[in-house]
Amino acid sequence: MFDNLSDKLESVFKKLRGQGVMTEDNIKDALREVRLALLEADVNFKVVKDFVENVRLKAVGTEVMQSLAPGQQVVRIVHDELITLMGGDQDNNLDLAAKPPVVLMLVGLQGAGKTTTCGKLGSWLRKQKRRPLLVPADVYRPAAIEQLKTVGRQLNIDVFDSQTGQEPVDICSAAVRFAELNGFDTVLLDTAGRHQIDDFLMNELERIKAAAQPREILFVADAMTGQEAVTVAGGFNDRLGITGVILSKLDGDAKGGAALSIKAVTGAPVKFVGLGEKLDALEVFHPDRLVSRILGMGDVLTLVEKAQSALDEKETARLTQKLKKNQFDLEDFLAQLQQIKKLGSLESIMGMIPGMGKMVKQMQGAQPSEKEMKRIEAIIRSMTPAERADHGIINGSRRLRIAKGSGTTVQEINLLLKRFTEAQKMMKQLTKLGPKNLMKGMGG
Ligand code: GDP
Repeated sequence: MFDNLSDKLESVFKKLRGQGVMTEDNIKDALREVRLALLEADVNFKVVKDFVENVRLKAVGTEVMQSLAPGQQVVRIVHDELITLMGGDQDNNLDLAAKPPVVLMLVGLQGAGKTTTCGKLGSWLRKQKRRPLLVPADVYRPAAIEQLKTVGRQLNIDVFDSQTGQEPVDICSAAVRFAELNGFDTVLLDTAGRHQIDDFLMNELERIKAAAQPREILFVADAMTGQEAVTVAGGFNDRLGITGVILSKLDGDAKGGAALSIKAVTGAPVKFVGLGEKLDALEVFHPDRLVSRILGMGDVLTLVEKAQSALDEKETARLTQKLKKNQFDLEDFLAQLQQIKKLGSLESIMGMIPGMGKMVKQMQGAQPSEKEMKRIEAIIRSMTPAERADHGIINGSRRLRIAKGSGTTVQEINLLLKRFTEAQKMMKQLTKLGPKNLMKGMGG
């Protein structure tokens, strides 16, 4: 996901960095490539056009053009504009402040992932110390009601006892009353879907909206369908006025266009992303972190956050300090690898470490695997403490020794060190580019 876009943008920026002075011409060339990269990532055509124009205006109008690092300047503008495109660093959280029960209505096409997301969201809400009630309101698809009841049982979350013979609008009204009487503070309506937008369904959803007065109407979009998801979101928005988007199946090989376009097209921000079929595979969406990931800086913040919930606090605090001070060394990297093992699916973690995904890819030219992680681990373990603290001292003969010790090749050592150096640099940039965001995310 986003790998292609990431690679393309990185190569544009690399070229820019190599240029001493920024002229309108080289900005133009760079922007042409940025434009192509975005189009290839399946970003909406009009969104791309506006985006590139915004970047151009800012880049040309920036006085710092004469500064020493003009390339850096453009990277920064692209970075900021991408964040703005997805809604900025505004609070994307759900609007849950109203008097309970707060009603959240999930809408979307059939197969988009509504029912699964309903369960995931229920589980997320419970973690926020809320008491959710799941409401199956799809009486058309056979087994849809049973599916949500099963999800509820798995999560041990209550599900309203809807029956297929009932009217969806009646179900929703009754469920809200039931929640009121029984102390549920959040009601999740899992509405019916169709293969495409149709008038009958929209009519029904409008009536449910009027009857249940949802605080949020969340459009569940299948990220794999790319621009189609964006178009459909627009259709739902016209009829219902959606307040947010939950982008499912972002774990697949979607190109990412939907994530980048949907806010610009509908005005509704992506609030959550679904990252797998399991019922805990839902994350709050942070545009700034996704942009850092796209621009190759890794998602240090999400990683640190995950770490905070899974690891001991002392170790996390130490790591956070090191990241803040740019003192992250190979020893920390190794400690990090150990901890990562505790954090669950390797694939979901890999992209979050600066330079890591790429490093492993280049070493083996394949998807990251436990085996490749072991090689990196073996390499670092074959280094002396002094070498881990300051990899600058690792000269030719040391490299040979490490390769022998770890059963790898000097070439692999070279690559690892090169990538690690780049990762360090990226972290430095990350701190420079967004100290505000960095500190915020780390609770510092
Ligand atoms: P609905 O018709 O909109 O209610 O969709 P479902 O919840 O039944 O989901 C359709 C399919 O998508 C199911 O096989 C889900 O397991 C799968 N699915 C839902 N969300 C995700 C996700 O985030 N990642 C992946 N890989 N699959 C998902």
